[in-house]
Parts: sequence; structure tokens; C-alpha cells
Amino acid sequence: MRPSRNEPGPATGFSTIPHKREGAAGYRCRVQLVLDFDGTVTERDTLDLVLERFGDAGVYELAEAELEAGRMTLNEVIASEFACVTAPLDEVVAYLLEHARFRPGFAELARARRPLIVSSGFHELIEPLLDREGVLDAVELRANRVEARPDGWVVSFRVARGCDECGEPCKRADLPDGEVVYAGDGHSDYCAALAADRVYATGSLARYLDERGVAYEPLTDFHAL
Ligand SMILES: [Mg+2]
Ligand SMILES: [Zn+2]
Repeated sequence: MRPSRNEPGPATGFSTIPHKREGAAGYRCRVQLVLDFDGTVTERDTLDLVLERFGDAGVYELAEAELEAGRMTLNEVIASEFACVTAPLDEVVAYLLEHARFRPGFAELARARRPLIVSSGFHELIEPLLDREGVLDAVELRANRVEARPDGWVVSFRVARGCDECGEPCKRADLPDGEVVYAGDGHSDYCAALAADRVYATGSLARYLDERGVAYEPLTDFHAL
């Protein structure tokens, strides 16, 4: 009879592989994965998908340019872009369920590693997608909230206080103690990525880290993580 994994190996010279135990506090004993959602877990930014279909292209382009120029904060940009969205939440969720794709390997990774997802998006749009993939209970999600009013969506931001490093209400304070692997793709990840031990990056985050000479690994899919 084979010994179970937690029992000592048989006295025949080979022993079982030590089993990494999860302590009472969860998964503190191993490296923690912190992931951006849009453009990182998903192949395309779902906020962009929503704004392309239901938003105002002029407001979008202006706000994104102001963000790049440093004249608007990310939260100001998100608030102004979604104030132009008047579609019912159900319709927008259905659109995303049809069009948003996750990077390969995410569901397996989520079940094995229980990552923390920190997003500038909204619980109301992210949770149905996690549910579609069967991983709603496998992740911890920290995100903003939105009220889909017919005269324009109103965003409730999760973090109000500006970060000591970047001045914006960013994701840095969400990084847990201990060793952190971070994966991201955009503006919302700049500050947190600099504080992580290892980074997987794509998109504008990769360019930002290149400019600063910060090492990272390219994010392609989640099998690599
Ligand atoms: Mg992103
Ligand atoms: Zn910051």
C-alpha cells in the first residue's frame, strides 16, 4: 500500500517529497502572486473593451492623453471615461462575457496559487468573468466599485489616500509582506511593480521598466508563472 503524502516514507530508502504546508494564516509560507486584472489576467483591457463599445471615443482619447502627460490622475481618467457610459450593467456584463478572453493558464494558476488580484476596474465587471472561468473563489479581488446609473456610471474608488512614492492612490500598499511576484501591463502597475521582488510585464509597464533599467520577465501566458 502506498503511503499518503503526509506520512513518512517507507523504510526502504526513499522518502516522500516534503509537503509545503499551508499554515493557519493561509499561504504565508510561500511567494505571493499579485496580479493586475485588465490586460494582465485578460488578453485585452476589459475597461477599454467597454469604453470602445459603450463609451465616448473623444473623451477616451483626451483622458488617455492627459494621463500620459501627467495632467490627470488615473482615477480622474477612469471617472471621466465611465461618466459617459449609460448602458445597463447587465448589457455590459453580457458583452464582456462574450468578448473578454483570459490569458492561457490562468485558471490552473489561480487554483494552485490563489493570487491576489488588484484592479483599477470594478467588482461588478470582474466577478462575472472570474465566475465564467470557475475561479471566483480561488482569488482574492481588490477593485473599485461602480454604480451603473442611466445618466452616467459613477465610480467609487477603493483607495482615497495618495501613495508616499507616486502621490496617487496606487496599488503599492496592497503588496503583502514577504516575497512578491507581480504581473501587470499598464499605468496602474507602475508604482507597485517597482516594489515587487520579481515582475512579469507587458504593454506600457514593460516600456516603463525598460526606461528605468528595471529587470522583468515578459508576460506572455500564465503557464510561465
Ligand atoms: Mg492592466
Ligand atoms: Zn504609488
